[in-house]
Amino acid sequence: MKTYQHFIAGEWSEPSERCYIETVNPATDEVWAQIARGTPADADVAVRAAHGAVTTGAWAASTPGQRAKTLAELADLLEARWPELVEAEIRDNGKRIAEVNGQFAGLHAWYRHFAAEALNISAEHLETGFPGVENTLHYEPFGVVAAITPWNSPLMIAAWKLGPALAAGNAVVIKPSEMASASTLEFAALAGDVLPAGVVNVITGYGHEVGEALVRHALVGKVTFTGSDRGGVKVAEAAASGIKPVTLELGGKAPQVVFADADLDNAANGILSGIFLSNGQTCVAGARLIVEREVHDELAGKLKDRAQGLTAGDPLDPATEIAPLANKPHLDKVISSIEKARAEGAKCICGGERLRPPGCSDGYFVSPAIFSGVTQEMELWREEIFGPVLAITAFDDEDEAVRLANDTDYGLAAGIWTSDEARGARLAAQIAAGTVYINHYRNVAAGSPIGGYKRSGYGRELGPDAVKDFLQVKSVWKGTAPMPDPFPQHAG
Ligand code: NAD
Repeated sequence: MKTYQHFIAGEWSEPSERCYIETVNPATDEVWAQIARGTPADADVAVRAAHGAVTTGAWAASTPGQRAKTLAELADLLEARWPELVEAEIRDNGKRIAEVNGQFAGLHAWYRHFAAEALNISAEHLETGFPGVENTLHYEPFGVVAAITPWNSPLMIAAWKLGPALAAGNAVVIKPSEMASASTLEFAALAGDVLPAGVVNVITGYGHEVGEALVRHALVGKVTFTGSDRGGVKVAEAAASGIKPVTLELGGKAPQVVFADADLDNAANGILSGIFLSNGQTCVAGARLIVEREVHDELAGKLKDRAQGLTAGDPLDPATEIAPLANKPHLDKVISSIEKARAEGAKCICGGERLRPPGCSDGYFVSPAIFSGVTQEMELWREEIFGPVLAITAFDDEDEAVRLANDTDYGLAAGIWTSDEARGARLAAQIAAGTVYINHYRNVAAGSPIGGYKRSGYGRELGPDAVKDFLQVKSVWKGTAPMPDPFPQHAG
């Protein structure tokens, strides 16, 4: 069994209380590794290491150009060596290899993007209108950034935080999910080949034990969190006590609105990828299908046929289409949500059964579930399941479709399927979500912001302001002529 310690100041570091948490492979239900169970004392050591890196040494003195070069070297390293990281993530969260390969082969591109963005950091001279004085805006890093990540896509989500935070000149302490920390630890050790010690540190353990202590640490200047809205509330409260800025990327219950004039095969591709890729364990999972009544049965039939044809198996096998859910508590939660949906009267048109594929019979597999006749009072309509469960409801006119789409506490993403361009634009304006896709679903790009309305969070990741979010602005005024005497009548 593999043992992972914290990774602090460029070295593996034993947890202060020498306690570890077992890490289970969701494909087999077997313990394959253990990770350090961090304490507030460990958070303190990691934050001090990061603080050291931003106050003395090469990183503290680095120019944006030097950081761009370092991030480009990190990108080169990842482009060459990403396959070494794949297995750790699959053993941890069970994501199938076809998807992990896709994400990891692209990891270098996020860092390359932020390497280029670093070069845009420069002071700005402002014209204030006052004679005899100049004003310049300087952009400075916060110092130590605390980055807290979830288990569904640990390394990709870490890249969205690390890339801009490092480009801005911060050092980072990452606290990955206790359910999937191995790939982040292996990444940090690999990145240690090009990053100065202390610039990226990883501490592991439970959120309430070590995550909260990290957020509260006096030397942490900025917090970036991706996870559930429940975790987000706790993190925002802890950050508030220290008046720290926080970015919150939280959950979702995204609607997919399909009009009768849409290309239904195209829509089916978008709906299947929205809810069944990664087993629905994505923040933008299109979990609520809102379909015009006249094409309801046709579309539901297409989705059922496609979902039923998918094959479950070992996530390390490239042919596998359905991988296990990421961990046992999550499996239990998804199964219980499915049972509740049946009990509430939703009609299960396929799936929702525990699967036991050969070689992985103890794994946490569930067949993709589709429910129709879902009403707005049902938990299935309201709660984020974060699993392979699609809820379908029918609408009769455009206003009703918009009302249904917006009938959620969340607002991360939405999909609209129609051949009427004007209608697509109308709905995009009316749906309260941070990302809206029209006749498309799921893309994320470094240059386009991602983030939520309502309970899906605040602040944005990626996009044109990503690096600025990790910088604080200092307005420097400089007199170029003597100041006037404020009390001239008493002069002399
Ligand atoms: P979670 O909130 O349980 O945990 C996320 C992280 O927060 C973990 O590292 C956890 O240890 C830590 N944490 C928990 N409580 C904490 C506390 N009190 N103080 C500090 N840290 C704490 O979420 P999860 O189950 O790991 O991930 C699934 C959730 O993440 C879903 O709701 C999903 O929608 C959301 N998510 C959002 C995005 C996005 O970009 N908006 C992306 C991926 C996942």
